Amino acid sequence: MKYVLVTGGVVSGLGKGVTASSIGVVLRACGLRVTCIKIDPYLNTDAGTMSPFEHGEVFVLDDGGEVDLDLGNYERFVDVTLTRDNNITTGKIYQSVLDKERRGDYLGKTVQVVPHITDAIKNWIESVSLIPVDGKEGPADVCVIELGGTVGDIESMPFIEALRQLSFSVGQENFCLIHVSLIPVLGVVGEQKTKPTQHSVRELRALGLTPHLLACRSAQPLLENTKQKLSQFCHVAAGNILNIHDVPNIWHVPLLLRNQNAHRSILQQLNLLSIATPPDLR
Ligand code: ADP
Repeated sequence: MKYVLVTGGVVSGLGKGVTASSIGVVLRACGLRVTCIKIDPYLNTDAGTMSPFEHGEVFVLDDGGEVDLDLGNYERFVDVTLTRDNNITTGKIYQSVLDKERRGDYLGKTVQVVPHITDAIKNWIESVSLIPVDGKEGPADVCVIELGGTVGDIESMPFIEALRQLSFSVGQENFCLIHVSLIPVLGVVGEQKTKPTQHSVRELRALGLTPHLLACRSAQPLLENTKQKLSQFCHVAAGNILNIHDVPNIWHVPLLLRNQNAHRSILQQLNLLSIATPPDLR
């Protein structure tokens, strides 16, 4: 299984869900089978009891699972039918670990965030990624994982650590990290600012994860010198810096990604270029 992890930096509501779904679209267009997992670091077991005023629609899956609205985006964009287990929350992970603890499965060991919670997260991701969601048999080729929240949040730390361990165990060519970040423009200066992104990439690297691609959200298209600066300071090749500027309709985002050859960068990182057919070569 190949994993594409989408993280977010600087602020929430950046468009990680739309970016992750759009990545699913471009990978599917390359002939790959795609599945998706959304991680929500909140303690609620699922989104069913959460106010829609705070969190937007509660999306109800075919199996009755009440989940985050991003799963609706995945189903619509990638044309898959997900299960309730494709939405992982801190609540679900702790509940499974505490149930095991009560059953005595840990054989008297001290149950801790590391390794028990992190192991539960890794096992959950590895087993759910194998569930076929596109109506065909057998597991998908690529699993897109979106980590909700912002890198550096206390509540997402166990997930970051579990994903770091996962990236190490599956190896470089099976793991691609895409960090979605904000490039603001200060009114008075009128300049695209890269510092918030530099800081969030530094935070991510301090936690043991280095992004392979940056997806930069901005109001207007990125200027060439902004890209160069980001590449130099964030340790990401200029060709892997994608720009997802504001568009009138989110269905434009997969096209934005394709036009910047995002699929090629991802396929290259995942060593899939020889297997998948980028749509521009068809
Ligand atoms: P997150 O997953 O980071 O919380 P979402 O993917 O839910 O963010 O997106 C937040 C909001 O921003 C949504 O209303 C979405 O439609 C909008 N959005 C995302 N990307 C873009 C874009 N490139 N242009 C315009 N609106 C966007």
